[in-house]
Amino acid sequence: MNESIKAVTELANGWLQVKVPLPFSLKWVNAYLLPEENGWTLIDPGLHTNETEHFWLAVMSEYEIRWQDIRTIVVTHHHPDHFGMAGWFQQRTDATVYLSQVALDSANRLWSEHEAFSDELTEAFLMHGMAPELTEDMREHMRGFREKVSPQPADLSILQPGGTFGMGGVEWNVLMGEGHAPGHLIFYDSVSGWLLCGDQILPDISPNIGWMPGGDPDPLGSFLNSLQEMLPLEVKMVFPGHRDPFSLFRQRIEELIDHHEHRLMKMAEIIGNEDKSAFEVCELLFSPRLRNNAHQLRFALAETIAHLIRMERRGIVIRLESESSPEGLSRIRYRLTV
Ligand SMILES: [Zn+2]
Repeated sequence: MNESIKAVTELANGWLQVKVPLPFSLKWVNAYLLPEENGWTLIDPGLHTNETEHFWLAVMSEYEIRWQDIRTIVVTHHHPDHFGMAGWFQQRTDATVYLSQVALDSANRLWSEHEAFSDELTEAFLMHGMAPELTEDMREHMRGFREKVSPQPADLSILQPGGTFGMGGVEWNVLMGEGHAPGHLIFYDSVSGWLLCGDQILPDISPNIGWMPGGDPDPLGSFLNSLQEMLPLEVKMVFPGHRDPFSLFRQRIEELIDHHEHRLMKMAEIIGNEDKSAFEVCELLFSPRLRNNAHQLRFALAETIAHLIRMERRGIVIRLESESSPEGLSRIRYRLTV
């Protein structure tokens, strides 16, 4: 049995959990294959690389899945590790790709208008105090993602939150999660108590909650609201986008809320008596070593800004914006209100 096949788990409900490899610290993203009467529904096919192409060919051959057996592709959100292979699969299977309208708009913004988005993000990060010498690495790193989400899927169908959607013999309630990615689809079945939730709720790791220009103005606020809204759901098993399925749903929601509340307090301590930029807070909160890792730095700084925005909205900090500098950018700093 080869490496890739160990990465497939046959779940008790008859689904296949396929751990699609990732070239960063998350290690894998879960694709799920749900059996249909005439084939399979594929959820979140993964990031598109040479390795994942070979990986999928091996998995499909082992499980005797032909291209035409994949009838439907569902993408929970637009992040490259979930959405990246949707077009590659569609070209081979002719399956329709389902996602939310907001996810589609976000994908277009990130992947079709890439340079404009990258300009805006760089500018915003400079305003938040990022050292200018770090911007080129970050831009280059983001450019590298374009081929990992190509080709883009062409035949797309929009799923509306509030409706239902049938897959794997279940009529799912379609919900929308916020905070991690705009328009993140979540599927809930009250009969079985199953929740397919992409990256909205993950075991062991906290989903990245990052601010991006033109996106959610208060992603952490949206995330915490979203968790509160999900809390009453009667969930017996969660099928997440990373790590393994788990059952302690409410406990995990409470842990995630606690994690962010603690982080908000920790950041207030870090700011202390002197106003600081988001970049300074980020390096004190995480580590200056992040400077060597453009991928981690982007996530960490976006996450720090999301927390500072939440603190500002709660009245814990005020945002100070200086006059424009010679490069035409103002500087944003945060000061504790008490
Ligand atoms: Zn994600």
